[in-house]
Amino acid sequence: MNFFRPEKLTLSLRSNIERITAELSPYGCKLIAVSKTHPFSVIRETYEAGHKIFGENKVQELTEKKVVLPEDIEWHMIGHLQRNKVKYIAPFVSLIHSVDSMKLLQEIHKEGLKNNRIISCLLQIHIAEEETKFGFSEEEAMETIHSSGMESLTNIKICGLMGMATNTENMEKVRKEFRRIGTFFNKLKKEASGKNVEIKELSIGMSSDYKIALEEGSTIVRIGSAIFGSR
Ligand SMILES: *Cc1c(COP(=O)(O)O)cnc(C)c1O
Repeated sequence: MNFFRPEKLTLSLRSNIERITAELSPYGCKLIAVSKTHPFSVIRETYEAGHKIFGENKVQELTEKKVVLPEDIEWHMIGHLQRNKVKYIAPFVSLIHSVDSMKLLQEIHKEGLKNNRIISCLLQIHIAEEETKFGFSEEEAMETIHSSGMESLTNIKICGLMGMATNTENMEKVRKEFRRIGTFFNKLKKEASGKNVEIKELSIGMSSDYKIALEEGSTIVRIGSAIFGSR
């Protein structure tokens, strides 16, 4: 990792965070600064600029960063999560955005129990055209929430949905995908219930599409390159 950072970067980091935070504020939307691939020093600079919520997409990178950075950082897991790695993040993770199976939910519950905490989760919904992206269909998500095994998962909380739009320049297509997950989100908010289900967060929007996501009801955006520059 390169520890030399010109002063200019510090300044642009700070102004990017301030600008994006101001854009989100009328919507009451939260910002996750996606720090994947960026060194500790960059996260520390962002932290010192006053931002304390970070997202990572790999368990190993997340845990390495967690141990050396300030205790009061809120860490979000936003990438595909394998069941055998849940144990490494269960003690501290604030929100897992990328839950895509009942088996993963069961594992998160098990690790939550061991750590004596309730772990907040979002169900990832597959909204993009690309096959490579993970997630439930709407029907599968609905079935999972209402399945008989759900009530016994006392150490998880399902707080909402996450989605990633197709990687395209066609913003009308992106809007359609966000609108669809937004509609499903509103339906679940009304209909879904259970001790460990409280649908209130919709995690949609990244650097290229967060302005559209805001208009379509996003409550959490996950932004990397628009803050830190390209990876
Ligand atoms: C990398 C990543 C982001 C942020 O992407 P940018 O285009 O850099 O803003 C958001 N969500 C997920 C799941 C990611 O992996």
